[in-house]
Amino acid sequence: MYKAFLIKYGEIGIKGKNRHLFEDALVHQIKYALKPVEGEFLISKEQGRIYIEALGEYDYDETMEHLQCVFGIVGICPVVLKEEEGFEQLAEDVIEYLRQRYPERNMTFKVDTRRAKKSYPMTSMEVSAALGGRILEAFPEMKVDVHHPELRIHVEIRKKINIYSEIVPGPGGMPVGTNGKGMLLLSGGIDSPVAGYMIAKRGVKIDAVYFHAPPYTSERAKQKVVDLAGIVAKYSGPIYLKVVNFTDIQMYIYEKCPHEELTIIMRRYMMRIAEHFARETNSLGLITGESIGQVASQTMQSLAATNEVCELPVYRPLIGFDKQEIIALSEKIGTYETSILPYEDCCTIFVAKHPVTKPNLKIIRRSETHLEENIGEMVKTAIDTAETIIVDGRID
Ligand code: ATP
Ligand code: MG
Repeated sequence: MYKAFLIKYGEIGIKGKNRHLFEDALVHQIKYALKPVEGEFLISKEQGRIYIEALGEYDYDETMEHLQCVFGIVGICPVVLKEEEGFEQLAEDVIEYLRQRYPERNMTFKVDTRRAKKSYPMTSMEVSAALGGRILEAFPEMKVDVHHPELRIHVEIRKKINIYSEIVPGPGGMPVGTNGKGMLLLSGGIDSPVAGYMIAKRGVKIDAVYFHAPPYTSERAKQKVVDLAGIVAKYSGPIYLKVVNFTDIQMYIYEKCPHEELTIIMRRYMMRIAEHFARETNSLGLITGESIGQVASQTMQSLAATNEVCELPVYRPLIGFDKQEIIALSEKIGTYETSILPYEDCCTIFVAKHPVTKPNLKIIRRSETHLEENIGEMVKTAIDTAETIIVDGRID
C-alpha cells in the first residue's frame, strides 16, 4: 500500500552551511543503495525531509533492507502522501489509512500532528483532537492513550499531507562522503571488517589493503577477504581493495630477524605500505581492527611499535572492545559467518611460539637494520605489483 518513504536523519551538528552537504550526500547514498533494487524511485529533498517515491511496482522488503544500510538515516517511515484538501478530506484519509493498514484495530492510539504549513487554518493541537474524535467514531474499539499509545499516528501538514505510523530504525551515523577517506588494513579476521564498518559509519569513505602471502595463503583466503570487503561495501559504497603480495618480505624478515619479533616487524611493514597507498589515494588515515591486549601484537607496547612507522593517524575503532562485543557487531553487520571460515591468514603461518609482548623499540629498530640490503627494493616491488580490485557490495 505504500508508494513512498519519509527519511528521518539526525540533525545535530548539521546546522547552517553543512546541512545541504549532509543532505546531498545522503540523497546520493540513497540513490546508490537503491540502484540494484527493482523499481524506479524519485528522491527529493524538501524542508529538512527526504522523500523516496516509487514510480511504479517495487519490492518493499528489498527497498527497506537496502535503506537500512545507508549511514545517516535514523528512521525510515513508510508514508502515505495526500494532497491538502481541507480537514474533512484529511479525516477520511486517516480513517482509510487505518482501515487498510490495521485490520486489527483493538488498540490504544494517539494522533501526533505537525504543521509545517503555517497557512493551514487549524493548529496542530486542534487537528490532533479533531482527528482523535473522528477515529473514535469510526472505530469504537480503539482507545486514546496520550502517554503510552500502542499506535502513534503521525500527521504532518506540509506541501502534501504525510500520514505514517511506523518508523523503522536506520543505522544512524553520517552519510559516506561527508568525512574524507581512510585506508583500512583488511585481513580475513573478525575484527578489521567491523573496524571498517565503524569508521564508514562516521561518513568516511573506505579503501582497503590486504597483505597476501601465496602460496602460504591460498586463493580461497584472498577470496574471503574480497567477500568481506563486499559485505562492508554494502554500507560504505564501493571499496578499492589493494592486494599486496607480501610473501618475499615476510620470508626475508623470517630469514633475517629474530623469530619472536617477526609479527611486530611484519606489521610495521604492513603499516608502511598501507601508508604509501593511503597517501597515493588521498586517504587521511589508516584503520585497523586492533584492540588493546587482544593478542601479543596488540599490547600497548606492540601498538606503539606499529604506530611508530607511520605519520598518518591510525584509527582503531575497536580499541576498547572485548572480543565478544566485536563478535556481536560482526554478527549484526553480517561479516561473522564469512570471517570464521577456516582459511589460513598470512600471520598464522610464521607465528613464533613465544612472540615478544613488550617489544623494545630500540631492539626492533636494530633488528630491522638486518633488512637494509634488500628491503627497499622488495617494498617497491610489492607496491608496484599490487593488484587493485574494485569491490561493489550493491551490485548483486
Ligand atoms: P582481524 O580479525 O582483523 O584479522 P586479528 O585479531 O586477527 O584481527 P591481528 O592479526 O593481530 O588481529 O591483526 C591486527 C590488525 O592488523 C587487523 O585488524 C588488521 O587491521 C591488520 N592486519 C593483520 N593482518 C593483515 C593482513 N594480512 N592484511 C591486511 N591487514 C592485516
Ligand atoms: Mg588477523
